[in-house]
Amino acid sequence: MEGIKCQGCGVEIQTSEPKKPGYAPKSALEREDVICKRCFRLKHYNEVQDVPYQDEEFLNMLNQISKSRGLIVQLVDIFDLSGSFIPGLQRLTGNNPILLVGNKMDVLPQSVNSNKLKQWLRFTAKEYGLKVEDVHLISAQKGTGMEELSQAIDKHRKGENVYVVGTTNVGKSTFINQLIHQSSGVTNVITTSYFPGTTLGFIDIPLDHSTSLYDTPGVIHRHQMAHYVSDRDLKQITPRKEVKPKVYQLNEGQTLFFGGLARLDFTSGERSSFICYLSNEMEIHRTKLEKADDLYKHHLGELLTPPDEETMKELPPLKAHDFKIPGEKTDIVFSGLGWVTVPQGEVSVTVHAPEGVKVSLRQSLI
Ligand code: GDP
Repeated sequence: MEGIKCQGCGVEIQTSEPKKPGYAPKSALEREDVICKRCFRLKHYNEVQDVPYQDEEFLNMLNQISKSRGLIVQLVDIFDLSGSFIPGLQRLTGNNPILLVGNKMDVLPQSVNSNKLKQWLRFTAKEYGLKVEDVHLISAQKGTGMEELSQAIDKHRKGENVYVVGTTNVGKSTFINQLIHQSSGVTNVITTSYFPGTTLGFIDIPLDHSTSLYDTPGVIHRHQMAHYVSDRDLKQITPRKEVKPKVYQLNEGQTLFFGGLARLDFTSGERSSFICYLSNEMEIHRTKLEKADDLYKHHLGELLTPPDEETMKELPPLKAHDFKIPGEKTDIVFSGLGWVTVPQGEVSVTVHAPEGVKVSLRQSLI
């Protein structure tokens, strides 16, 4: 079997690990043109299947892009922005232009100001050393913003290839599937050519007779909240519907727990409201700051869930971050969980999140 390559994407075929790249059932080897399960699904069901790749393999693959010309479409999850950026992307992809696409718009409250959101995406991209041509907001699931994005891709690619990149869980498969469904008329979405010079192939979706859109596999970003929690917890913390704000009036010396995954201590300032934008299924507990440590110690995983039992085995300890909120409407952002708006500012807080999960401030989006 050694050396057999998938005719769809070029990855080496293996028959032992269904969840890894290049898997094909043994029976498939009897055919002349062997294709991997991922390509099989794409070809027959117009569906892209996720396959986990190791970071290094992935980064090597991405690095191939720097040797060619094309437009990079980077997908990010607006609920987990810092978990969405691929370290060193600009270096890996060379001087190719980047279009930044914020996905999962459908879960944001309608009152979010999309210009401010775009500004924040631009600003964060800059922090990660990325120069972006333009920013687009979409819901890959609902199809919102897809038409405009397609047009922008066409404009910015200037007749070259397109490479779609993103960390796992940002919605890249959903996005590619949506694109495939949109561009009806394409019957055989997989071509037999694969990205030259790589051992692991990219999925190739022809755009015209000489250029293609390539789906690159999702990179695993260690700092994504998604990697610390069990599947069950991930379902609970990931908003699936429009987020409904929950408002708490707090006095100095009070604490909010977001399940047991994060915590906000109001350490000093006048009585203030704290407006929480988290998954509607996330439970928030209010307590006194002086009792918070005890509550956490004795009730983590019971009263304070998620984490469930499985998550607790993996979850890094909570790390404290002190913030002085400036005198304007500010959001405290817990990457992968949501955010808390402080309407007037001028307060001090200590927020706790699992070590490695980024907590930051931004000008309020609402
Ligand atoms: P990938 O790992 O980047 O390929 O991400 P997937 O396409 O598998 O999506 C990850 C999760 O995000 C899945 O639970 C999707 O249902 C969800 N998802 C993807 N796009 C959207 C979107 O536009 N809105 C919402 N609410 N969820 C989305």
